[in-house]
Amino acid sequence: MSREIYANIIVDISHENVDRPFQYRIPETLRGRIRVGMCVLVPFGRGNKELAGYVVELTDHPVYLPEKTKDIVRISDKGVLAESSQIRLAAWMKEQYGSTMITALKTVLPARQKMRTPSRRRIVLAVSLETAAAVIEECRKKRASARLRLLEKLYTEKELPYEYAVGELSVAPSVIRALEEKKMIAVTSELSYRNPVKGKAFPKRSVTLSGAQCEIVTDILADYRSGRPGTYLIHGITGSGKTEVYMELIAGMISMGKQAIVLIPEIALTYQTVSRFTSRFGSRVSVIHSRLSMGEKYDQCERAKKGEIDIIIGPRSALFTPFQRLGMIVIDEEHESSYKSESMPKYHAREAAAKLASYYGASLVLGSATPSLESYYASENGSIRRYELTQRLTGGQLPKVYVEDLREELRSGNRSIFSRKLQQMLGQRLAAGEQSMLFLNRRGYAGFISCRTCGHVMKCPHCDVSLSAHKNGKLVCHYCGYEQPAVNTCPVCGSGYILGFRAGTQQIEENLHKLFPQARILRMDADTTRKKESYEEILAAFADGGADIMVGTQMIVKGHDFPNVTLVGILAADLSLCAGDYRAGERTFQLLTQAAGRAGRGVKPGEVVIQTYQPDHHSIRYAAAQDYRSFYDEEMGYRQMMGYPPAAHMLAVLVLSLNEESGQRLAAGLVRETAKAKAEEAVQVIGPAPAVISRIGDQYRTVFYAKSVNRAALIAAKDRMEILLEMQKPQKETVQFDFDPVNGY
Ligand code: ADP
Ligand code: ZN
Ligand code: ZN
Repeated sequence: MSREIYANIIVDISHENVDRPFQYRIPETLRGRIRVGMCVLVPFGRGNKELAGYVVELTDHPVYLPEKTKDIVRISDKGVLAESSQIRLAAWMKEQYGSTMITALKTVLPARQKMRTPSRRRIVLAVSLETAAAVIEECRKKRASARLRLLEKLYTEKELPYEYAVGELSVAPSVIRALEEKKMIAVTSELSYRNPVKGKAFPKRSVTLSGAQCEIVTDILADYRSGRPGTYLIHGITGSGKTEVYMELIAGMISMGKQAIVLIPEIALTYQTVSRFTSRFGSRVSVIHSRLSMGEKYDQCERAKKGEIDIIIGPRSALFTPFQRLGMIVIDEEHESSYKSESMPKYHAREAAAKLASYYGASLVLGSATPSLESYYASENGSIRRYELTQRLTGGQLPKVYVEDLREELRSGNRSIFSRKLQQMLGQRLAAGEQSMLFLNRRGYAGFISCRTCGHVMKCPHCDVSLSAHKNGKLVCHYCGYEQPAVNTCPVCGSGYILGFRAGTQQIEENLHKLFPQARILRMDADTTRKKESYEEILAAFADGGADIMVGTQMIVKGHDFPNVTLVGILAADLSLCAGDYRAGERTFQLLTQAAGRAGRGVKPGEVVIQTYQPDHHSIRYAAAQDYRSFYDEEMGYRQMMGYPPAAHMLAVLVLSLNEESGQRLAAGLVRETAKAKAEEAVQVIGPAPAVISRIGDQYRTVFYAKSVNRAALIAAKDRMEILLEMQKPQKETVQFDFDPVNGY
C-alpha cells in the first residue's frame, strides 16, 4: 500500500468539464488507505464547505506550502467510483506517455452530453374520469384552452407521450407542470437508451470447436478460475477460427458473471463481425464506433456501468467502458496501428489494456495473423503465452504468390506501371469474368529515392532507414537529421535511373483504361471516399460485381470479403518498404500478407502478384512464402542491431511551433535536458531533425528521438522535459511525447 502524503483531488467531477485537481494532505489516520478513484470528503473554498472529490493521483510532492494544504476529512461512504479503474488508468497514462492529468482524464471518461438522453416521458391522467370531467367543464368555462386540449385528449386516451402534448397539442411545459403540481396528471419517464444494435435480428448458428480451439479456451479460462489471469497471443491466419475462440471465452466469462471488452479496428467493425456477437449474446452486446453520436457513446457507458450489458465491441476507445466486473479484454488484429493514439496521451491500447486488466484481475487475449513484433517478442521471452491456429476453417486455399522484379521489367524494356505478368493475369481475369484488386500502399510514403536498375535504396548510414528527398534537393534522414546532396547516378551500379516514385491511384486508373478499355474500374482512395458512406458504397458496389477491377490505397485490404476476387496485385511494395522509419519492414509484411489474404476467399483459388525493386528484401520474401516465423527472426535481428523497439525503447519528442527557429531552439533545449541522463542511464539521443511532414498549416514540426533499453530512463527524461516546459511555459510551441512510435513523424 502506498504511503504518500498528498492526494490530488478533482472536486465534484463533472465529465463534461473536468476541473483541475486540487492538492490535499492525507492525515496520518488515513495514510495508506487512500487509493486513486476513491471518493473522499474535503473542505473546499473559503468557507471550507465539505465537498465530495475523487482522488486522481497520490504523491509526495507538495504543490502548495505544506502548512497551507488542507487535510482530507474522511473517505466517503460512496467508496470507490465506478470509473475508478479508468481514473487510475488515466493517472498511469499521464505518467507513462506524458500529458496533463486533465487530458488523460478526458481520454478515459466519456464526455457527458448536454443533450439529455431522450426519455420516453408520458403524461398519464392521475384522477378518476369523473373528476377529470368536472375539471374539463371548469376549464371550458374559464376558457383555459391549453388545459382543455390536454385534458380532453387524456380523458379519451388515458395517457399520452410528453412530446405529443408539447408538440401536436401545443401545450406549454409550464401548463403541464401546473397540472402535475395539482396532481391532476403525472409525468412518468422511462429512460430509453440509444442502443445501436437494437432491432436487428440475427440468425443463430453454432460450431463445435476444433481441438486446437478448445485447448486455448480451456487453458485461458482455467488460468482465470485459478486466479492467475494472464496475457495470451493467438497467432492464426484469417479464417482460422480466432473469433469463435473469443466468443467461447466470453461465454465462459459471462457464465462466471463477468464482462468483456472486445477491441476491433474501426475499419474491420463491419456488420458481419458485430452480428456474430449479437446472434450469440443478444442484447447483452453493445457497439461503439465513430459514427455514433456523443450521446449514444455516453449511453453505452451508462449501460455498462449499470450492468445492462456484458460485452462492448469497438475500436481503441471502447477500452474505457466502465464495467464493474470486467473479466476479459480481447484485442483482435492486435498489430493494427490504429491501436496507437495519435493525440496526447499517445497511448497504445495494448499496453493500456494490460494495465487495465491488472486492475481488474482480467485476462487479456491478443489475436492476429501477423502479430506485432512487440507481442511476438513477449511470447518468445515467455511473458505472454502464445497459441497457433494453423488451419483455415473457411475452406478456400491459400493463394499462390508471384514476386515480380521491376528491375527485370525495365531491362526488358517495359516501362509501364504493370509488369508483364500482371498485365497477362489481369487480361485472363477480364476474360473469365472474375474480379481483381490493385493496391498502392502509399501509407507512410516519404519520397524515398531508389535505383530502377539495381534496386538500391538511399539510406541513412547511421539509422538504416530510407532517406527522403526534400524540395531543397537534399536527401534527409528523418531520425537523425543527416543530409546529403541528391544523387544523379546510383552509388552501387552507376545507373542514371535513380529517382523518386510518383504514381498515384488516379494515374494507375488512367493507365488501366488505356490497357483494358473494356474493363469497368472502381477507384478508392482519400479523394473518392471523402464522404463517410462512400467507403462502404464503393466496397458494396464492388462486392455486387459492379466493376471488374478495383484500384485503391491500403483501405481496400481490410474489411469486406469478396468471393469473386481471384487476383490481387501490389503495384509497388517498395512504397511502404522505404517509409523512412524503423517499422517500414514490419508494416510491409503485414500489408502484403493481408492483401494476399484478399484473393481466393471463395471457391475459386486466388493469385497474388507483388511488384518490387527489392525482391530479396526479407519482408517481401517471407510475405510471399507466408512465413511469419522467418520474417520475425530476421526483422528482430535488425531491431536488435539498431536498438529499435521492441529490442529497446524509443521516445519521439515532437515540437510544434509557429516559428521555425523558436521550435528548433526549444527542441535543442529539450535535447540537452534529455542528454543529462545519458551517462548513468544510457539514453541515446538522435536528432533533432525536421519531421517527414515538416510543416502542417502554420506549424513547423521538429522531432528528435531518445533510445534506451530501459523504458524507465525514457520516462525520467520525459519527466525532466515536462518540468523544464513547466518552468519555461513556451507560448507558441507545443510539445508531444510518443513512446515506441508506431507511425513515423
Ligand atoms: P478468424 O477470426 O480467425 O478470421 P473465424 O472465427 O471468423 O476466424 O472463423 C472463420 C470461419 O470458420 C467462420 O465462418 C467460423 O464460423 C468458422 N469456424 C470457426 N471455427 C469453426 C469450427 N470449429 N468449426 C466449424 N466452423 C468454424
Ligand atoms: Zn543501382
Ligand atoms: Zn539517420
